[in-house]
Amino acid sequence: MFIVAGEMDVICVEGILPDGSGLDLCKEIRKHPSGHNIPILLLTGSEDPNLGIDAKEAGITQIFYKANLGALADYIAKYEKASRMAEALIGNALLVEDSPTIANFLSEILRGMGLTVTTLANAEDAFEIFRKQKFDIVISDVQLEGDLTGLGLVRAIRRLDEPYCRVPFLAISGTTSKERQFDVIGYGANDFVAKPVTPKELEVRVHNMVKHKQLFDQVEAQRDHLRRLALTDQLTGLFNRHYMSEVGSRRMTEAMKHGIPVSLLLLDLDHFKKINDTMGHDVGDIVLFETAKVIRECCLSGDIASRAGGEEFCVTLINRDRTNSIGFAENLLKKIEASLPEGIIVTGSIGLATVAKGMVVDFKTLFKTADKAMYKAKSGGRNRVESALVEPLAEESGAN
Ligand code: GH3
Ligand code: MG
Ligand code: MG
Ligand code: MG
Repeated sequence: MFIVAGEMDVICVEGILPDGSGLDLCKEIRKHPSGHNIPILLLTGSEDPNLGIDAKEAGITQIFYKANLGALADYIAKYEKASRMAEALIGNALLVEDSPTIANFLSEILRGMGLTVTTLANAEDAFEIFRKQKFDIVISDVQLEGDLTGLGLVRAIRRLDEPYCRVPFLAISGTTSKERQFDVIGYGANDFVAKPVTPKELEVRVHNMVKHKQLFDQVEAQRDHLRRLALTDQLTGLFNRHYMSEVGSRRMTEAMKHGIPVSLLLLDLDHFKKINDTMGHDVGDIVLFETAKVIRECCLSGDIASRAGGEEFCVTLINRDRTNSIGFAENLLKKIEASLPEGIIVTGSIGLATVAKGMVVDFKTLFKTADKAMYKAKSGGRNRVESALVEPLAEESGAN
């Protein structure tokens, strides 16, 4: 059973062998732990209709017929490509080494692993480039000519902001002293290899560090994506109510504390139910989407627009005085009416709550005031703006 003892990537057996059948051999191989996952291909001239079932039972991965050897060649070529791809790393490595001979030797190994390598001879230049580009790993000699050593480089990198400060750092240590070798870890390196570097050792360490870093990046990107999903309204792409009451309210409070004028705008579409009832829910969705687009276009970078729920939208207006905020609201209604999504005339009613200068009002009070004003706009005939000033007295009565 030399097959099982050896390192095989793929095994191809003939149906009929001098001392038994290919299927029996396959069964034997599958009994050994190292033979569990190797693809075993059966090459046969037989046209037995039951062969497929027998082969499956024996553990054959795929059957190939002698009349179509091209299919077998294709399989092997694809398999080879797939296993090469699985091994290859895609990423950028920064190599810092002042000996040209060693630098060449190391960069060849790294390139052979699939990495794109930038090689520099001193730490100062390396640090400059490191801050400008995205690297998946830094591999640096500890002893370097120039003012900055490999230890200085790792220290400087660890002081940078995210995500630069956590790029894996592999130190190449020339010292034979075990203690000094470990020093580099204390400076912030993730790992070290001692000179003379063997290709296998470098490959194994670099592979691990790059894979680990890329996995971490992936998890972080997923976390950011989920965070964005949690804060965004899916239909309109605006922020959701949760974001508004967290971030929007915090920004408003900050502004109020600094005496910057603040208003909260609440927009409710008029007779929206009728649009749903007569045109269908999907058209209703388009109207919401298009209205959100108009709101976004009217906002400046400091304004936060959100979908408060259903057909209600909420916008924080920071650093606009009352007249300016009313002007914003009136212009918004005009733009909505002119937008004609699906040819429908859409109107809305706006309630605007503006905070009197010098006051700090909590978000709930502000929202309640805007809501009251919005209902006034509804009862006053819709498609209009009603504004309210939150004054010390109004705040007290709002709290009761
Ligand atoms: P008013 O002028 O008094 O505000 O009347 P209205 O019809 O706009 O108000 P009402 O509260 O009676 O109806 C709001 C409707 O909005 C009811 C609900 O089905 C619909 N709605 C809420 N969310 C969505 C949504 O995501 N998509 C669609 N198409 N409709 C929604
Ligand atoms: Mg050196
Ligand atoms: Mg409503
Ligand atoms: Mg409505």
